Amino acid sequence: MARKTEVLIIGAGILGCFAARALSRYKLDISVIEKEADVCTGISKANTGIIYQGYDQHHGSLKAELCKRASASFSALCAELDVAYKRTGLLMLSFGPNADKVLEKKIRNAESGAIPNVHLIGPQEIYSFEPSLRDGVTHALYAEDTYVVNPWDLGIAAFENAKANGTSFYLNEEVINIRKESDSFLIETNKQTFLAKRVLCCGGLKADMLWEMVCRPMIRLIPQAADYLVFDTYCGNLIHHVLSVEPEEKGDGITIVPTADGNLLLGPTRRDIIGEFDGSTALKGLSELKKKGKWLLPDLPLEQVIRSFAAARPNPFTLDKNGEITDKSLKDFVILEEDGFFDLIGVKTPGITCANELGLHLADKIIRSFERTPELKTDFVPTRKAIPKTSELLNKNPEALSLLSPEYLEIICRCKNVSKGEILEAIKRGAFTVDGIKRRTGAGMGRCQGGYCMEKILKLLSENLDTDIYQITKDGIGSEILKKP
Ligand SMILES: Cc1cc2nc3c(=O)[nH]c(=O)nc-3n(C[C@H](O)[C@H](O)[C@H](O)COP(=O)(O)OP(=O)(O)OC[C@H]3O[C@@H](n4cnc5c(N)ncnc54)[C@H](O)[C@@H]3O)c2cc1C
Repeated sequence: MARKTEVLIIGAGILGCFAARALSRYKLDISVIEKEADVCTGISKANTGIIYQGYDQHHGSLKAELCKRASASFSALCAELDVAYKRTGLLMLSFGPNADKVLEKKIRNAESGAIPNVHLIGPQEIYSFEPSLRDGVTHALYAEDTYVVNPWDLGIAAFENAKANGTSFYLNEEVINIRKESDSFLIETNKQTFLAKRVLCCGGLKADMLWEMVCRPMIRLIPQAADYLVFDTYCGNLIHHVLSVEPEEKGDGITIVPTADGNLLLGPTRRDIIGEFDGSTALKGLSELKKKGKWLLPDLPLEQVIRSFAAARPNPFTLDKNGEITDKSLKDFVILEEDGFFDLIGVKTPGITCANELGLHLADKIIRSFERTPELKTDFVPTRKAIPKTSELLNKNPEALSLLSPEYLEIICRCKNVSKGEILEAIKRGAFTVDGIKRRTGAGMGRCQGGYCMEKILKLLSENLDTDIYQITKDGIGSEILKKP
């Protein structure tokens, strides 16, 4: 017997989670299917985490419209979902006349799009903001309302809020086939079958394959990899704004971010790959980052790199009538739609920025596609509370800390001062893996990268999930940490 649902979302990345949250405002039965063991483990966990103002988006595009709205409402969204962020501002730096012209063009674009607080500044102001910068900066585009956020914090908050508002999430479950029935869709997973009135694919790198399970091929995603380096919080104060360089000659610039957690993030690179993205970094990319980072910030302490990781961009290309890939790459957000089947395909930057707005936009499209408009719930709760952080409460509000259970005083991760209470709460909220704990609490993200706390976290997961410790994984099936003797 197929499980009936009204809207079925495939993919619990940040975009699937925000779409679910937006739809959960309505009296609808919503199911989200995710093939991995946790939400936000695809593109949504490995990116730069910048909330852009949209100064370089093409006027009239969906990206421009959503980005402008998202930027204006970002702090309110974070207040609603209790998500930490920083308003760092962004300096896009130029080192010569060619790059100067590009910056001027972007500023004119911001002005004509009525994007506030984006202007050109000169070297005196730039060096007063960022004294560690190398010599020779000529100008900077200063986007004052740029924010940084942990992308998975935002995605997990949307997941928790959608769940609290009645959405059902099915993790570790992969959609393997979809068939159109008369007025609904039969969706087969590796575990069960669903019958849904509407389907929304938010499949990240697999969005093209999902579309092609039901509809004629139109777009193919060609993944392109990117490498990043993470520096210890020790270097966090080296810069105060997101810094990016507009190259003087053709080629890629560089971006350095003071993250919401107080680390420095250097990257991304751009690297073509053959076949599927396997998550591995490339030595060449990492060396390029070190070279460029040191060029921009001569005092950048390369010995303070604590981690590297890779990401993949879902680059969308149109197919011709014979199904061959053309060189036409799509620039705007694309939502394919056919008879109640919706597919959000090829969403790159600024997907994190626009996650909430895209969710609302998609929900609106889906709601309007029903013959009888579903009613809004009267009991929708837009807010969600984050897990209390012992490290913050210790300094800012010891009284609040004393009201929590004593487990919030038992430190498990020494680098980031994460307590047992936080880890237990993360498990209660849906963490099954070591990385799931890391994303929800920060445990294992510090200098020792879990060297000290991993064993304790494994034990807590095993005991509280009533699972054999040998079955606990780093981030899903196949990444078991301990080998059974
Ligand atoms: C290098 C890089 C840097 C970026 N930097 C920024 C930035 O600074 N600011 C910004 O705004 N945006 C940025 N972005 C864009 C942003 O990260 C993405 O737009 C966003 O994360 C996409 O989210 P998603 O939910 O579509 O994809 P994903 O997070 O990949 O989610 C898709 C989900 O679908 C699941 N899935 C796929 N197939 C199936 C199936 N058959 N059955 C069940 N589940 C399935 C996958 O497991 C996955 O969890 C960046 C992107 C990249 C690549």
